[in-house]
Amino acid sequence: MATQTTVVQTTCPLDCPDTCSLEVRVAEGRVEEIRGTRENPLTAGFICDKVRQFGRRVYHSDRLLHPQRRTGRKGEGRFERISWGDAISEIAARFGEIQQRWGGEAILPYHYGGSNGFLNDGLLDDLFFARIGASQLARTLCAAPATEVSLGMYGKMPGVAFEDYPLAKCIIIWGANPKASNIHLVPFLKQARRNGAFIAVVDPRANFSGAEVDLHLPVYPGTDLPVALAMIRHWNDAGLLDRSFLSQQTADGLEALLAAAAEWSFDRAASVARVVASDIQRLADAYAAASPAAIRCGWGLERNVNGGQAIAAILAMPALLGKFGVPGGGYTLSNSGGGKLDIKKILGDFPWATREINMSQLGKVLGGAGGLMNGDAAKPLAPPVKALFVYNCNPAATVPDQESVLRGLQREDLFTVVHEQVMTDTALYADIVLPATTFLEHHDIRRGYGAYVAGGVQPVVAAPGEAKPNEEVFALLGRAMGLRDEPFTWDSVTLKRKTAEAFKMAGQPAAVEPLVGGGLVRYNFPSERPVQFRTVMPQTGDRKIHFAPACLQPRPFHFEAVSSERYPLALISPATSKMVSSTLGEFNYPELRILLHPQDAAARGIREGDAVRVFNELGEVRCHAQVSDRVREGVVSMAKGAWMKASANQRTATALCPQTAGTAGGACFNDARVEVATL
Ligand code: SF4
Repeated sequence: MATQTTVVQTTCPLDCPDTCSLEVRVAEGRVEEIRGTRENPLTAGFICDKVRQFGRRVYHSDRLLHPQRRTGRKGEGRFERISWGDAISEIAARFGEIQQRWGGEAILPYHYGGSNGFLNDGLLDDLFFARIGASQLARTLCAAPATEVSLGMYGKMPGVAFEDYPLAKCIIIWGANPKASNIHLVPFLKQARRNGAFIAVVDPRANFSGAEVDLHLPVYPGTDLPVALAMIRHWNDAGLLDRSFLSQQTADGLEALLAAAAEWSFDRAASVARVVASDIQRLADAYAAASPAAIRCGWGLERNVNGGQAIAAILAMPALLGKFGVPGGGYTLSNSGGGKLDIKKILGDFPWATREINMSQLGKVLGGAGGLMNGDAAKPLAPPVKALFVYNCNPAATVPDQESVLRGLQREDLFTVVHEQVMTDTALYADIVLPATTFLEHHDIRRGYGAYVAGGVQPVVAAPGEAKPNEEVFALLGRAMGLRDEPFTWDSVTLKRKTAEAFKMAGQPAAVEPLVGGGLVRYNFPSERPVQFRTVMPQTGDRKIHFAPACLQPRPFHFEAVSSERYPLALISPATSKMVSSTLGEFNYPELRILLHPQDAAARGIREGDAVRVFNELGEVRCHAQVSDRVREGVVSMAKGAWMKASANQRTATALCPQTAGTAGGACFNDARVEVATL
């Protein structure tokens, strides 16, 4: 019998800057192969292993196929199959009761970047929760400090395109690991190096070999700010600041920045950051001497209490030295600002003025005290959170202070719904589990935040079992709760078309048809790619730079040291090339390990492969040791996003991370201080 094979175009919407264009070979209705295409020039025909093997998630035994109701204890994982009708009726009834007794704010939507398209996050879901008066969620697990600071400084100004990096004569990769989560930047870095560029990496881990970069500055976690300020002081003292550019383009904050920098000599910064002072000077001199010079600012350096301040000092660098205005010169953070979705045009105006809850403090929130963004953060929550609707997110494994999160999820009086693709650690605690589609089974539109493209996502195969996309679930739930007006009666294709029609790229309406299908649309900037301060300008109200944005006030460049005598090792939990946050952790990261420097291992009698406990006042993780100088001494590293089953005691790095809130409420994962001992 002949096998029927088709090839379908689509776009990867996972939480990754690259937004790859894909073609999927489907045989007899099953995903056979996922390849990258050249539609997106950044993809250039290759994709990461994660998505190449995404079919494993689609057909995995953990895949959720039907709605289920809990029959065992929370966390135990015993469920019975129910119909969609029963599931929706039960959720609507429980939400209705909670609304009546406690008020809508007792219901908390909880979601992040598991599925990153417009349709699956932030459209009908937001409308639904706004209409029932639910609490709002401050999405602070990642990028909150960097976003808030960069918006305050430059507005949504597009950054240097990755394709322009080979033009740069100096590139600083600061707090990012493109090899794990931005792989298409790597060939451009190689090209730049072949062209003679000086390449520096600032990161506690050595993600690049000595042959790949000119300088690795292994800063101690949370000390990027002093290093950046010392560089700025050096430039100011040497008379290198571009005063003419600064006088034309600055609104405010320059004096505060320079005054803070004056406090930081190379020696002082080096002692705090535990690096060699002459290396900081080498970095400062290389950057000052080069043009074009590019900074790839990542999100690793924001994961601590000084994160927002560090981002501000680093993003100031191209302005201080006049590095803007040429292709390949400036900075790249998120490039999503080139595309704007007019949500009002799709859904109309919907006021949502309820309290805002910090998602990084879920443990405190479910414990009844703390987590308010716009009020007294320590105050008991009134009303308490009585219902949680989790989608695109796995908080049991990924949110700081795991023990308190798990305690909260175990509350018998908490009604938890989880809409998910596979049986995650969080889904095990749900009262109702709803099966979700993957991006190979649903419609969406993805705006790139690294690549200057937007792509249509379209179903490649039929959804298995009874899985449904988020927008369909919120339409069903809305109608069950009496919201029978138009957005709640649209199907996915109607919503997708209206979304494409409301989307502008570089100020121009986007091409609708490719987005409605699985095609790719490139930005049409005045130049082929944006050039900061030439073809794209700051998007602040006055179109000027605000060096000390409001979110950092009243002490915009204040440095706070985080240390613990009892727990002397700093724990970082960076992304790996195996998972996108926790997505794919069900099969792709089976064993959690702790990476230690040989000196730290020797001091504790720990050898490669030993069973160890990593612990502090918040919790403990039991796993195996990996000894390598890929991490600096004084720092240990454990993968972000691992599932609980990956460790011997069912705990992950988040069990050791505090619920401290940084700038804009951002999670401070890297402020975890721990000790490690053999078991
Ligand atoms: S995760 Fe990133 S690199 Fe991998 S296919 Fe998706 S966009 Fe491309």
